[in-house]
Amino acid sequence: MSEPVKCPVCGKQAKTGSAIDCARHMFGTGDKAHRDWVEAQGLSFIDLMIEQATTPGNKSYVILAEIIEKAQDGLEISVGAESKDTSRERRNA
Ligand SMILES: [Zn+2]
Repeated sequence: MSEPVKCPVCGKQAKTGSAIDCARHMFGTGDKAHRDWVEAQGLSFIDLMIEQATTPGNKSYVILAEIIEKAQDGLEISVGAESKDTSRERRNA
């Protein structure tokens, strides 16, 4: 829980920066963009909402939070390929 989690859809950061809060934000927003993202992860937004509404606990939030955390890894693109500086050649002319 060191790095704050950002919404993979709109980039908004939850208050605590936790994936659970981000999931809560997604359910709370519930617009087409957020629904489509959840569906694209192979989940049913409606089913998760129903599950959350009818089942005690945060099961749906936890499920979505895990997906969001995985998405965070994809968002962080590591830059290291261009470490070699081969274009710069010294010419003593
Ligand atoms: Zn969002």
